[in-house]
Amino acid sequence: MHYISTRGAAPILTFEQAMLTGLARDGGLYVPDAVPQMTAEAIAGLAGQSYEEVAFRVMWPFLGNAFTEAEFRDLIARAYAGFGHAARAPLVQLGANHFLLELFHGPTLAFKDFAMQLIGQLFQAALARSGRRVTIVGATSGDTGSAAIEAFRGLANVDVFILYPHGRVSPVQRRQMTTPTESNVHALAMHGDFDDCQARVKDMFNDFAFRDAVGLAGVNSINWARVLAQVVYYFTSAVSLGAPHRPVSFTVPTGNFGDIFAGYIARGMGLPIENLVVATNQNDILHRALTSGAYVTDGVKPSISPSMDIQVSSNFERALFDAYGRDGATVTQLMAELAQGGFTISQGAIDRLRATFASGRCSEAETTATIDRLYRTTGEVICPHTAVGVKVAEGHLGATPMITLATAHPAKFPDAVEAAIGLRPALPARMADLFERPERLTEVPNDLAALQSLIYERIAA
Ligand SMILES: *Cc1c(COP(=O)(O)O)cnc(C)c1O
Repeated sequence: MHYISTRGAAPILTFEQAMLTGLARDGGLYVPDAVPQMTAEAIAGLAGQSYEEVAFRVMWPFLGNAFTEAEFRDLIARAYAGFGHAARAPLVQLGANHFLLELFHGPTLAFKDFAMQLIGQLFQAALARSGRRVTIVGATSGDTGSAAIEAFRGLANVDVFILYPHGRVSPVQRRQMTTPTESNVHALAMHGDFDDCQARVKDMFNDFAFRDAVGLAGVNSINWARVLAQVVYYFTSAVSLGAPHRPVSFTVPTGNFGDIFAGYIARGMGLPIENLVVATNQNDILHRALTSGAYVTDGVKPSISPSMDIQVSSNFERALFDAYGRDGATVTQLMAELAQGGFTISQGAIDRLRATFASGRCSEAETTATIDRLYRTTGEVICPHTAVGVKVAEGHLGATPMITLATAHPAKFPDAVEAAIGLRPALPARMADLFERPERLTEVPNDLAALQSLIYERIAA
């Protein structure tokens, strides 16, 4: 199993190398050279297995010889041991044929824990073996950063720097990043929006001298290992509703396109997924692209589902790579046009994308109304991101069971939930003291050189 860049001009890597690298040196994203297939029989054999066992069987063919079977099983067990639900990703029924996949039982209450907890274990094992040190730098609109800090805090061979947009993450998200006391954790509040944070991280990766000097590693959703970890819950949920004998559909609240791309990989492996629906908030570049064919940026409008407030959806490049017949030179050209404002997707590529992805957009008012209506009709309290998914899914219900991904716990976004239903959702008991812990953060300007010198100083300390 080898990994190639979507821009076709970076070294071909193993799983372990792709994981430790993150962004490819040509600016592209790593993807497997071929997606391993699972037979209907193998998928049927997942029924009734634990989350960890399904995780092992689904991910193992992607790993090459990075770890032994026993090592990998052990790392998976450690990754999910801290989750607050025995099923890890339980399903809840909302209506006759509509289900919610609860992905918020991990330590930071959002789906990103599924990938990040595993990546923490994989990094630790790989680095301990080689004696290497890495500096993880990530940009976050809130949930990635808290999940990364939680996964890497206290690890011996890693420093973790997280850039988040100052004043634009929820107090729960911020505190999850600023309250860990370990000295290898660095929460950086940047003056700018999420796209600025993401752009500065990209700049650091494109500065090869800096990249090599600090051993830069990325764990943003472009990291292939993260996408892979998210493939697992598509299998566990589909199988519990009757796959492979009965197809299912998924609706995925989407920002950077990582989570839904994992669903695309699950389908590519043979899981019978009928509809894969992209749900966006008012930052709807993906919905506009899929409906009009024009992939054009338009400034970020802050919303009540902030983890989906993006201007450019980085993992969409992986879908474009496939839609353009895996032509790295064309993708390179398109991404250069995107940097100038956008491009029109070719007819052949848009046809292929539309055969794969449906889409919908949910406004701010619809998000609030959906939280309220769902509470009144089912008793379920959902976060605003999940509400975007539920609203869009309702436009795609049919004979096939629909699974909407519940991407965060409502207590992570208490203001939006309270505004909708008049009740403030409580944090789970295991983190009830979050607001009493002291905070530690550094305010930083939107300036590459300043960020680089801060990182040099901190890792030398
Ligand atoms: C990150 C996040 C999303 C968007 O996921 P992508 O993989 O970026 O599409 C949606 N909801 C929540 C709560 C998130 O944290």
